[in-house]
Order: sequence, then structure tokens, then C-alpha cells
Amino acid sequence: MSLSERDLKVLWHPYTQMKTARSPIGIVRGEGAWLYDEDGNGYLDAISSWWVNTMGHSNPHIAKEVAEQLNTLEHVLFAGFTHPKAVELAERLLKVLPKNQSRIFLSDNGSTAVEVAIKMALQFWNNKGQQKNKIIAFHGAYHGDTFGAMSVSGRGAFVAPFESLLFEVEFIEVPTPGSENASSRQLNELIEREKDNLAAFIYEPLIQGASGMIMYEPEALDALLTICRSNNILTIADEVMTGFGRTGKYFASEYMTVDPDIICMSKGITGGTMALGATSSSAEMYDAFYSDDKLKTFFHGHSYTANPVACSAACASLDLYDEEETWVAVDRIGKQHQKFAERLTGLANIKDVRQRGTIIAIELNTDGGTSYFSNIRDSIYDHFIGKGIILRPLGNIIYILPPYIISEEDLQSIYDAIIEFLDNKA
Ligand SMILES: *Cc1c(COP(=O)(O)O)cnc(C)c1O
Repeated sequence: MSLSERDLKVLWHPYTQMKTARSPIGIVRGEGAWLYDEDGNGYLDAISSWWVNTMGHSNPHIAKEVAEQLNTLEHVLFAGFTHPKAVELAERLLKVLPKNQSRIFLSDNGSTAVEVAIKMALQFWNNKGQQKNKIIAFHGAYHGDTFGAMSVSGRGAFVAPFESLLFEVEFIEVPTPGSENASSRQLNELIEREKDNLAAFIYEPLIQGASGMIMYEPEALDALLTICRSNNILTIADEVMTGFGRTGKYFASEYMTVDPDIICMSKGITGGTMALGATSSSAEMYDAFYSDDKLKTFFHGHSYTANPVACSAACASLDLYDEEETWVAVDRIGKQHQKFAERLTGLANIKDVRQRGTIIAIELNTDGGTSYFSNIRDSIYDHFIGKGIILRPLGNIIYILPPYIISEEDLQSIYDAIIEFLDNKA
């Protein structure tokens, strides 16, 4: 029996309608930007395996460090104990994060990094003796799949079955070009209406990922952050997708002048090797919990908090960010994307092309309009899988989000396949 046949008898896949989905492809090996299935077919990973893989599959440096860690210390509880890789990781993250960040809280994935951020923000006010219980978020946001993260995410199909149990959130418009004023106006009206009840504003800086790689400008976000700052609203940058070079800088937050109070990280943090989440906070946040009063403790943690193997993968990945080569590659991918965007302008079946850093998104014109459930999605996906390229469109939006180690030629071959598809199919 093939891997995929055995799989279908026992597994349940994420975001997959098991009845109608294609059989999963059994991947047995990865190398650089390529994955290989059980029959030896290669697939170019144009989306970094759900946006996590920044340094290529089976990266030799990360593999070596992780193997060493496994043979030294695989795990230790993180209350009352610490270990070298957690300390090293926190020290190194604080060197590259925006200057105001001063503490690192570790967890297991992006959703938990967001949960931690939300709980920290709410308890911050509680510890200061102020009851503030409203969070502000953008329409269409995606912050993860646990209940808190779902609550601050846009109210769409993903959260519909749970909607009655999600906590109330104030949504404002994303300040995409043309909507900047509406967005600021809504925020100001909200402040007027809710007065001192607004605890925090959570946002995906510059790019809303899962809702279709929606992009907006730093100046527009800066304006909102400035309003938050002057009204005592904490700011939470969800950099789970945008962190670690994705947007061309280490963190997207570097494009703005106002530093966030809290930053959520995951995905690229280990180069795509291990599950790890991190939430950083400013000294001011931390100080509100630092007390002789036990009730001001941050009561949150996971069994695998600060797992040494995951921390060693993250440290190994940071070694690679210390190499100039990585940033040269990030720049080169951005420039290649820009050239590709020029090739696309004027093609009839394209509604919009947008790009920032290593991400480029192509929104297609379709009869059904823009939607995650656009019928065109499956045909696009199948087409590219048939060509040995993993592109997983968000509805009618095709995007490329490659590992930074992808070669110029491999990236070019993805562009060529997209152009060919657009010429023939769309
Ligand atoms: C993927 C993602 C999350 C959730 O991370 P998981 O590791 O999948 O739980 C949260 N926020 C953003 C912006 C993401 O892209």
C-alpha cells in the first residue's frame, strides 16, 4: 500500500474536506527548495510549506545543531529551570527585535504566541487595576485557530461554527491604499465611543496573509499605531508570518516609526524545522507583572515551553540570519519578484499584482469574485502540482512565498509556469 492509501485510513488533515480532497502526496525527503514523493517525483516548494521554511528543507546546519541538542538535552520543564539554548535564543532575539522589546515568552506555535499576547495585554491592565476588555483588530485578519486567536480574526467561514462563543472584538478597516482615512476615522470613532475600555490593537503588519496577501503601506499603519499610543491602547504586532525576513527586513515592524508593545513570532523562527512560538514584550509590559503579589503572575505555560530541541533549531536558524548571504538572497528574491510583476502588468485576466519583500501575490479576475472558496482554486492547485510546483492559492489569489535558499533559476521556473498558466487557462 502507498503512503497516501495508508494515510487515508487513519489520518485527518488540517483545512481539508476529507471527502472531496485529492489523496495526499506522500513526501519522503526534502532538500533545499525541493520535496520528493515516494515515487521519486520532485516538487518545488513555492510556498515554504505553509510559510515556515525560510532556510530550505533538511538544512544541514540546522540539522547538525538539532542532532547535537538531541544527544545533549531533549527537554526540561521550564518553571524553576532554564537551559543554554533558551537563554541564547532570548538574548539573540532581543538583539534583532525592535529596540523597545525586552522579554521573550516561549510557546509552541503561532496561535499560542497570539493567545499569550492577548492574555498578556488583558492582564496588563488588570494588574494595573484597570478593567479594559475590548480588543481592536482588522477586518479579514487571521491570527490562528485557538479560541482567542479566532476571536481576534475576521468573522468568515473558518470561525462561523464557533462564532457565538468568540469574544466580542471591535473590527476596523484595513488601511489599504484608498482606505487609510476610513481606517483612522473608525479607530477614532471607536476611541470616542469606548473611551477607556480598549485594551489592545492586534494586527498583521503590512500584509494580511491568510485573507489573501492583502498589503498596505507603513505610513498608514504608523498613523494607527500613533493614535493607539496616544490613547493608551497597547499594540500587538502579529509577525508570525511577516517575521524573519519575509518582508525584506528582519521584522515588518521595522518599517514603522512606532514600536509595538508586544510581538508574536513563530513560522520562520526555526527556519521551518521545529514547532516553536515566541511572544516578546516591552519592559513596561513586563513590569506590570513583576510584583510581590502572586496574583499578578502571568499564569500561562505549555508542557513543551522552551523545548531545547526547538530552541536549538531557532538558534541555528539565527546563525544563518547572521550571514550576509541570507539577506542578499532576500533582496534578490524581492528584485526578481518586482521584475516578474512588470511582466504581469497589462495581462487581461489579472485584477491585481502586489509585492513586498519575498512575497508576491497575483489576484485573478474570476466570475465568482474574490473568495477563498473560488472554484478556480482547485484547478490552479492541480495544474501546478502536475508541473511539480507547490502553489496553494488562497481562492483566486496565487502567491509565491519561497524559502530564501531558492535558486534564481528555480524561482524563474515558477514565474514561467504561472505565465504559461495565465496564457492558457485563466
Ligand atoms: C499562521 C499564522 C498564525 C497561526 O500560526 P500557527 O502556527 O498556524 O498556529 C497566526 N498569525 C498569523 C499572521 C499567521 O500567518
